[in-house]
Amino acid sequence: MSDNQIISSNPLVREANAMVPVYGQLPFVPERAFGCDIYTNDGRCILDLYGGHAVAALGYSHPKQIKIITDQCGKLLFQSNVVALDIRAQAAEKLINITPKELNRVFFVNSGAEANENALRMACMASGRKKILAITHGFHGRTAAAAAITWNAERWYGFAEKPFEVDFIARDDIESAKRMINDDIAAVIFEPVQGVAGGYDLSTKFIRALRKLTKAHGALLIADEVQSGMGRCGKFFAVDIHDVAPDILTSAKALGGGIPCGAVLCSEEVASSFGNGDLGTTFGGGPLAAAAIVATIDIINEENLLYNVCQSEVAIRKKCITGPIKKIQGKGLLLGLICDRPAVEVRDALLEQNILTGTSSDPNVIRILAPLILKSEHIDQLAKALKNITPLNN
Ligand code: PLP
Repeated sequence: MSDNQIISSNPLVREANAMVPVYGQLPFVPERAFGCDIYTNDGRCILDLYGGHAVAALGYSHPKQIKIITDQCGKLLFQSNVVALDIRAQAAEKLINITPKELNRVFFVNSGAEANENALRMACMASGRKKILAITHGFHGRTAAAAAITWNAERWYGFAEKPFEVDFIARDDIESAKRMINDDIAAVIFEPVQGVAGGYDLSTKFIRALRKLTKAHGALLIADEVQSGMGRCGKFFAVDIHDVAPDILTSAKALGGGIPCGAVLCSEEVASSFGNGDLGTTFGGGPLAAAAIVATIDIINEENLLYNVCQSEVAIRKKCITGPIKKIQGKGLLLGLICDRPAVEVRDALLEQNILTGTSSDPNVIRILAPLILKSEHIDQLAKALKNITPLNN
C-alpha cells in the first residue's frame, strides 16, 4: 500500500486500496447471515433477495448444510480426480438423478464459465465441428470462450475473443434459428431463462425448435443452467419446464450453495467421445465441493423447496406489481421486475429500506434471485417497500 492511501478499518476502503478496481461495491459490509437475512457491521439487518448472484440457494447458516460441509472438512479436505471418492460418487449420482434422464454423465469443474468452456470444447470434439450458435442477450461467463458466446461481449469485456466461429440467433426467433442451424454447427447454447439479461424466459416453442433443429442437423444442444438451475425456476433444471432434454447441461452458482463448484452433465453418447486425458481439472469434484453438492440436493428435496419456489413466484407476481414495478418476467425465483425508471434507482431505494435486489443488463429491470427458502413474510416486506416508492406517473 502506498503512503498516501488512507489507513482505515473499513473493509470498503481497504478493498478499494488493495484490489483491482473492477467491482462497484454496495454501501454495506456483511458480517454474518442467517436464513435470508444479512447482518452488517453497523447493525443493519438486510433482507437478501439477491442471494450473492444466485448462489445462496439454501440461504445462510443452514445447520444441515454446515454439518455436511464441516464433517467433510474434518475427514478429507482435498484429493483430486486421480483417486475415486465416495463423496464425489454420491454427488455425481445425485446430480444425475435430478437432471433429465438423457443426461447420465458428469464432469466436475469450479465455476460457471469453466463449465461452459468445457461444454463447448466437448461439443466441438464430439461433433468434429467448430461453429457455435448462441442467443442474443445471453450471458455465459468471462473466460475467452465463454465471453465469445456472450451477447455484446465487447460491452462486457472491451474486446470480443472468438476462439471459434460464433454467431447469434435472435432470441425467440424460430425463423432465425431455422436459417442459422445447419450441418456446420457444433452446438447451440442457450439459457432457458436469461439471467443477466433480467430474467427473460425464452418461449417453450423456441426452445423446442432449437431441440428439433439441432437434432436434425447433428448439432448438440447445450443448456446453460448456471443461473436458472438447481431449483431456482421451480424445477431442478429449467429445461424440465419445457420438457426438453439438451445433450449437455452446465450448472454452477447454487450447485454448491456457496462453496465454489460447477458441473457439466452430458448424455452417454457425448461422453463416449472422450477418453483418458481429454478433459481435466485439479480442483473440480474435490471432496469439499462434492459434499456441498450433496448438501444442496438433499436439502432442496427434504425441505420441498421446489414447491416453495413455485409458491413464492405466484405470491410475488400477485403482490409486487406496485410502486415502480410495471411488469414481472422470468420463472420461479429468477424474476425480472420491470421498472418505470432506471433499475438502479429502484435497487437503491429498496436498499435504503433494507432489501437487497440486483440490477441486470437491461437498464430497467431489477433481478430477484432470492434464496429458495424464501418465506411469505419476506414477499410481504418486498411488496410494502415497493409500495413506498411513488410510481413515476403519479
Ligand atoms: N452462465 C450464466 C448463465 C451466468 O449467469 C453466469 C454468471 O453470472 C455464468 C455462466 C458464469 O459463471 P461464473 O461467474 O461462475 O463463471
